[in-house]
Amino acid sequence: MPLTLVTGGTRGIGAAIALRLAEAGHDLVLAYRSDDAAAAATLERVRALGVDAEAVRADVTRADDVERLFAAAAQRGRLSGVVNNAGATYEFAPLAQTPVESVERTIAVNLTAPLLIARAAVLAMSTAHGGQGGVIVNISSGAATIGSPGEYVHYAAAKAGLDTVTRGLGLEVADQGIRVVGVAPGLIDTDLHTTTGDPERVARMAPQIPLGRAGEPAEIAEAVAWLMSEAAGYVTATTLRVAGGR
Ligand code: NDP
Repeated sequence: MPLTLVTGGTRGIGAAIALRLAEAGHDLVLAYRSDDAAAAATLERVRALGVDAEAVRADVTRADDVERLFAAAAQRGRLSGVVNNAGATYEFAPLAQTPVESVERTIAVNLTAPLLIARAAVLAMSTAHGGQGGVIVNISSGAATIGSPGEYVHYAAAKAGLDTVTRGLGLEVADQGIRVVGVAPGLIDTDLHTTTGDPERVARMAPQIPLGRAGEPAEIAEAVAWLMSEAAGYVTATTLRVAGGR
């Protein structure tokens, strides 16, 4: 069975990815930061699908936690997939009104953390390092191309940086048995929008989406499952937009 690590794999889009990969027969290591109840609930749901799964509390912006996370995965078997899904925004405001600390935290979780995770993933999976290959999926955002003026230019910039990681690293490790791909979701109905204090945001923005609605976490999970499958074996170093046309 493939063994896949999903960061932020216990809530929202990450939990949907975990469930979809479990359906496809992946054993799972799910990383989360703080929400033990969500971790326990998601773990129960994926285990009910018959796969081996563990949830590890780890802040992916910390290099020591990333090291501990990969050590936990190595205990379970040979890692063959990593989904860089953990990400966050902390408020919606023009850059000049965004606290410096928030800018730094946003870059840390959306860009530095996926770089640390991707680095560890290459060391674990690359044929050049004794591994047997695998797939890295980076969860980007439609914000990377829109730039998100007035809302979160710093978050958009971090996600654009992540797209460059997908492109550059994908080319760097193409001859090492590793594919690196991205999925850029559009507006998806998760807690990401409500935790910033704007509970109506998704309903307000949905009519602006060309397909006329917000997306579901399961629709992102479907794209991830396909990109991780052998059916997508000729796809690398590129990001797929799943954004209702936005
Ligand atoms: P949620 O806020 O619903 O879930 C975020 C998940 O990431 C949680 O499991 C959380 O853990 C985890 N997480 C956050 N920070 C850390 C950290 N430092 N270390 C470890 N885990 C962490 O977000 P979504 O599901 O909406 O977003 C998932 C991804 O999709 C993100 O990368 C986001 O940027 C991207 N995205 C989302 C869109 C949307 O409209 N929802 C649109 C475009 C992109 P815990 O619960 O324990 O805190």
